[in-house]
Amino acid sequence: MAEERRAEGENSGKTDIKSLTLQELKDEMAARGEKAFRAVQMYEWMHRKLARNFDGMSNLSKGFREECKNRYLYTALQTVRVQESELDGTRKFLFALSDGNVVESVWMKYKHGNSVCISSQVGCRMGCRFCASTLDGLERNLTPSEMLDQVYAITLLTGERVSNVVVMGTGEPLDNYDNLLVFLKMLTDENGLHISQRNVTVSTCGLVPEMRRLAEEKLQITLALSLHAVTDEKRRRIMPIANRYGIRELMDACEYYFGQTGRRITFEYSLAAGVNDSEEDAMGLVRLAWPLRCHINLIPVNPVKECGFSRTQLSQIKAFQNILEKNEINGTIRREMGRDIDGACGQLRRRHMSVLRDIGGNEAC
Ligand code: SAH
Repeated sequence: MAEERRAEGENSGKTDIKSLTLQELKDEMAARGEKAFRAVQMYEWMHRKLARNFDGMSNLSKGFREECKNRYLYTALQTVRVQESELDGTRKFLFALSDGNVVESVWMKYKHGNSVCISSQVGCRMGCRFCASTLDGLERNLTPSEMLDQVYAITLLTGERVSNVVVMGTGEPLDNYDNLLVFLKMLTDENGLHISQRNVTVSTCGLVPEMRRLAEEKLQITLALSLHAVTDEKRRRIMPIANRYGIRELMDACEYYFGQTGRRITFEYSLAAGVNDSEEDAMGLVRLAWPLRCHINLIPVNPVKECGFSRTQLSQIKAFQNILEKNEINGTIRREMGRDIDGACGQLRRRHMSVLRDIGGNEAC
C-alpha cells in the first residue's frame, strides 16, 4: 500500500512521506535501521505540529533531515490566492500542488466551529450538468497528503482549529477511494489532528459499489448522497452517473450504509428552476427519504455560465421545504456562505486556469 503512494510529476520515484500512516512510517523507519520513536517524532511534526518542511523538525539531526529531503516528497501546498467574504468571513483558498496543478478549498465559520470543504481530485469525470468542476474532465486524483494539507494549510493560515471537514469540493471522493480512506483515517487519527469522525462528511454522486465498501469500513463519518432528482429518467438527464446506477440500487446502498454504521444518510438536493423543484418532486423526495429517515440539504443551484441552469426562487424553495416538513422530513436550506466571493464550486480554479491560458502560462495547470 505505502509503496504505491508515490509522488507525481517531477517528484516521481520519491515516497510521499506525509501520505504514510503512522504504522507505515514506523515500517519505513525500521527498514532504514531507525528506531521506532523516530517515526513517532516525525509523525507528530507532520500531522500535529503541521511543520511545513523537514528543516523545522528541530529534534532531528541535520544529517537525518538532509537525508529525508533527498529521499522523500514533503507535501506542503502553496497559497496562490485567498478571497474573503465581507458578508460572513468565509474564505476561499486556491492552492498549488507540487506538479503545478491547483485546487480549491473553502473555510467557513459557524457557531459550532470552523468547517473546511476540501477537494478530492483535480477536476472530475462525473459530468454532472450543473457543476463547474467537471467541465474540463479529470486531471488526476489527489494523494492523502494533498487532501490533508488543505486542512493543515488552512489551520495555519487562519490560526484557528478546524473542527469539521466536508469532502465536497472539486472531485468525486469515491472515485479516489483508496486515497480517500487513508486520508480519513489519518485526519481522525489520535496522533494527528484527531478530528472526530462524526464531524467529517463525504459527499458522493452515488457510486454504489464504493458506498457499500465504505459502509463495511464502519466509520462514524456522515455520507451525503447528491440526489438532485427523484426519478431515474430525470436524474439521468442531469447526472450521467445515473445511467450506471438506478435510484433503487442507490437507496439499497444507503440502507446498507445505515445498517452497517448506524449513521443516517444526508441527501443533497440542488434546486434548479423548472428542473426539479415542483410539488411532485418534493413528494417524490419524501417517499425516498422516509424509510431511511434522511436529513435533506436543499441547495439553491449556483448558476454556472456554461451550464444554463437558473436557481429556484427562495419563496419556492421554502414551499418545497414546507412539503418536506409537513411529511416529517427534515430539510435545511443551505446557507449560502461567501456569496460575494463566489462562483460555484470549481469556478475559482477554472478562472485561474483560463487566466493562465490567456497569458500563455503553463497549459498543464
Ligand atoms: N462529487 C461529489 C462532491 C462534490 S460536489 C458529489 O457529487 O457529491 C458537492 C455538492 O455540490 C454536490 O451535491 C453537487 O452536486 C453540488 N453542486 C455542484 N455544482 C453545483 C451548483 N452549480 N449548484 C449547486 N450545487 C452544486
